[in-house]
Amino acid sequence: MLERRQLFIGGTWASPSGDEVIEVISPHTEKPIAAVAAAGPADVDRAVAAARLAQDEGPWPSLDPAERIAAVRRLTELYRPRRREVAQLITAEMGSPISFSKFSQAMLPMLLLDAFADMASSYPWEELRPGFFGEEVLVRRESAGVVAAIVPWNVPLFLVVGKLAPALLAGCSIVIKPAPETPLDSLLLGELIEAAGLPPGLVSILPGEGKVGEALVNHPGVDRVSFTGSTAVGRRIAAACGANLKKASLELGGKSAAIVLDDADPATVAAGVKVAGLMNNGQACVAQTRILVPEARRDEFLDALASMVGNLAIGDPEDPATEIGPLVARRQQERVRCYIEDGRREGARLVVGGSDAPAGIGCGWYVRPTLFADVDNRMKIAREEIFGPVLSVISYGDEAEAVRIANDSDYGLSGSVWTADGARGLEVARRVRSGSFGVNQPYSMDPVAPFGGVKASGIGRELGREGLEAYVEFKAISGAPRSAAAP
Ligand code: NAD
Repeated sequence: MLERRQLFIGGTWASPSGDEVIEVISPHTEKPIAAVAAAGPADVDRAVAAARLAQDEGPWPSLDPAERIAAVRRLTELYRPRRREVAQLITAEMGSPISFSKFSQAMLPMLLLDAFADMASSYPWEELRPGFFGEEVLVRRESAGVVAAIVPWNVPLFLVVGKLAPALLAGCSIVIKPAPETPLDSLLLGELIEAAGLPPGLVSILPGEGKVGEALVNHPGVDRVSFTGSTAVGRRIAAACGANLKKASLELGGKSAAIVLDDADPATVAAGVKVAGLMNNGQACVAQTRILVPEARRDEFLDALASMVGNLAIGDPEDPATEIGPLVARRQQERVRCYIEDGRREGARLVVGGSDAPAGIGCGWYVRPTLFADVDNRMKIAREEIFGPVLSVISYGDEAEAVRIANDSDYGLSGSVWTADGARGLEVARRVRSGSFGVNQPYSMDPVAPFGGVKASGIGRELGREGLEAYVEFKAISGAPRSAAAP
């Protein structure tokens, strides 16, 4: 069993102030795989003090951006040979099929580091603008200060790096709180950050329960909060940040729709929905679990979807052939099974799956991939985020009704449209209220494009130039001599 008894505080390994330990349990075997030191309130104080010092007295915020970019590129090169290990760790911690982990859990963080370093290279950190009143104004982009980054367990390192890279490039210092289910990948990142030789104080990693996140959010030394997680916790964080006038970006839950138009090919739709709705065992914020099909071709699409869901390979996440692994925790397994029961009670028709254990699997937090038909968009299974492999097929009359159903949700994070006519698909994409959307693609997530949600899916954007700007404060300086401004 792996033992990690130290916390990463201000760039070095340090003993925790308390003796609480997080036991990391394999979702496949239900046996402990690691014991990790848990952070407590005194560790939050130590980490924020170190971050504050690095911010207020250290060189990092005022370095030439090229030096910060070089440091992030050093980190990328240290990460590159560790990708395989990252994929295995995350699969062991939270049960992502290794086929998913290789790219989405392990490769994507590296690509993010690269993409943000590239974006920072062409970013106008100082810009002279022709002023309205004749004189030029110098617009500077400066560090937003000390950042608290709080992440969930589903794509843990991708989410950490999506905050760490832009924060460091903008000159911030950062205190990261990984979820208690997945501390190991972040601690590995700590090793790489130490080896990259960043100035002291800049980065801390504090695995712990929600109370550690809460202490960070409320800490007077923290300037900005970047949270990814559930909408319920996001609301609490927004309220706390509002009371303290602290800026926060919130990446929250979703209940997105895949809109299947009447000219779509059923096999293509089924292959797309396999990714869009069921990737990462259905534990994805962008998961499209409402599948909207035209009434006139409902049975064709339903047959293709039923055959796809019914033939998924369920089992050991370390097996390269596995498509659906276990859910992250017993509580999540129970939660998802309750939703399946809710669906039946509300009158949806169970086509594949169910709330019983998958055949031939004796232990592990598995749930049968499940497909419901005849779902009404008012049902609980169509309104609430299930975060497991459960799909609901909802039929519609015409395109306008499909868009209306897609938009009839508390959330607005992702979505897709499936059609033989890309231009028609784009028209639908324009009418759906969400932060991102795929036309004949399972979803949209590109490191150079903004990612985030509307309505209860969040506030703010990550990734892209917009994601970099989440860690920047703007300052306008008038009367600066032209020769002194950076080119
Ligand atoms: P969660 O909100 O319970 O926990 C997320 C993180 O917040 C964890 O680190 C947790 O320890 C911490 N936390 C819990 N209570 C806290 C508090 N009061 N103050 C500060 N921090 C606290 O989320 P979860 O259920 O573990 O994760 C799944 C959720 O995350 C889903 O809703 C999913 O859609 C969402 N998510 C969103 C995105 C996105 O980009 N929009 C990405 C991934 C996951």
